[in-house]
Amino acid sequence: MSVIGHIINGEPHTPAERTAKVYNPATGVSTKTVALASQATTEQAIAAAQAAYPAWRQTPPLKRARVMFNFKALLEQHADEICALITDEHGKVLNDAMGELQRGIENVEYATAAPELLKGEHSKNAGPNIDSWSEFQPLGVVAAITPFNFPAMVPLWMWPMAVVCGNTVVLKPSERAPSAVRFIVELAHQAGLPNGVLNLVNGDKEAVDTLLQDDRVQAVSFVGSTPIAEYIYASATAKGKRVQALGGAKNHAIVMPDADMDNAVNALIGAAYGSCGERCMAISVAVAVGDKTADELVARLQEKMAAIKVGNGLDNSNDMGPLITAEHKQRVSGYIDAGVAAGASLVVDGRGLAVDGHEQGYFLGPCLFDHVTSDMSIYTDEIFGPVLCVVRVKTMQEAMDLINAHEYGNGTCIFTRDGEAARYFGDNILVGMVGINIPLPVPMAFHSFGGWKRSLFGDLSAYGPDAVRFYTRRKTLTQRWPSAGVREGAQFSFPS
Ligand code: NAD
Repeated sequence: MSVIGHIINGEPHTPAERTAKVYNPATGVSTKTVALASQATTEQAIAAAQAAYPAWRQTPPLKRARVMFNFKALLEQHADEICALITDEHGKVLNDAMGELQRGIENVEYATAAPELLKGEHSKNAGPNIDSWSEFQPLGVVAAITPFNFPAMVPLWMWPMAVVCGNTVVLKPSERAPSAVRFIVELAHQAGLPNGVLNLVNGDKEAVDTLLQDDRVQAVSFVGSTPIAEYIYASATAKGKRVQALGGAKNHAIVMPDADMDNAVNALIGAAYGSCGERCMAISVAVAVGDKTADELVARLQEKMAAIKVGNGLDNSNDMGPLITAEHKQRVSGYIDAGVAAGASLVVDGRGLAVDGHEQGYFLGPCLFDHVTSDMSIYTDEIFGPVLCVVRVKTMQEAMDLINAHEYGNGTCIFTRDGEAARYFGDNILVGMVGINIPLPVPMAFHSFGGWKRSLFGDLSAYGPDAVRFYTRRKTLTQRWPSAGVREGAQFSFPS
């Protein structure tokens, strides 16, 4: 079995320490293991980042950005290899892996604008002969901790912006899908990133806790489930660190009686079942306004779902791959059982699906529940699987009240032809990312990504303009050069 190790100070590093098996979820077979960094190994990575910081901080933003131009070219050149690694360990269909990588590349493109983004603010003659300006200085060593479901994209949300802003990074990706990100870190070094600027430690709680407790780490970017996001936020802020911790979601789509039903049904199928529902922006609840809308929606979803092809993600003719692990498949199946027990109608049951030649894979077919109510666990909890719940309401306001009362507030959308209704929805819904006839309103790299409520702990969203603020500290300087002979006496009051 090969061991996927760390990259510290630009060098591969695989000490004898704990390991975990990495599986191919389509076959259930494991041919590799991943190193799980000890506290000592993680501290080595922090020390390498700390040592690289002074020189990198002084490197002109233009030169830092040039590394990103080279890096983008390498990502494009090696896109097929990266996507094969994603599919091998995550299971998503290759085309979907390519989409994920493209979103990541767009963040690298944004990072190439560092000289423009870091220009700062200037006021000449803020007072008589006084100039004042604000500059945005890097923080130092920052930690990036990422989930399994976007093995390439989420790390690319974080470290390219962190390094172009002048920081050095310790990246701790998911131990369940570590190969694509490791390959990408190697490409960053080929692109000219100096040793120590970006360090990769694979690992689990031990590595994460070391990053949270170490005083040399100034800030933590995290994406993952809400319980862990909350733990990261509480632990790292207690140590005085800056934290952005993005968590889980339960994204609702409202289907209005006037919606373009073809568009709504197609959009919901892709948004609920793409990537096997393992997306933080997946739509997992469709709220149908009126029984007539609900009846039509459920009938048409059911018809379309019969054509969804589930299989190995290496075959691009499949729509959906497997879930990430056997345990997760069991957990999702448990939710389906609980939904049935609670009295929801299971219109399409994906349990028991068998994929020929992949009997040991973690496949689960798409599932559709109707008549779901807000007290059921299939409604309240993030299932993170191919399960769409239809909730029936009488009015749009009732639909909005449901969404606003939910603990999560990551994404949402409305399907309607009524501009006034859409505008009211956009204005009043308590969710961070909102789509109008767009099911997955993932902001582009030149905006920022973040939910509300328990989908984000911290003040700044991921990537885009917020990332410049997150990865820098404002310093405001005020200067005067008194001319010879003109000297003021001591002043005891603010000038008025
Ligand atoms: P996870 O919370 O299990 O793991 C995320 C990271 O935290 C991993 O690097 C993992 O090693 C680490 N971790 C796990 N348990 C830990 C512990 N007890 N102590 C310290 N560190 C720990 O999440 P996951 O299963 O990898 O990813 C799926 C989750 O991520 C879903 O909830 C999904 O909604 C969420 N997600 C959110 C966004 C977003 O932008 N809001 C994006 C992608 C995924």
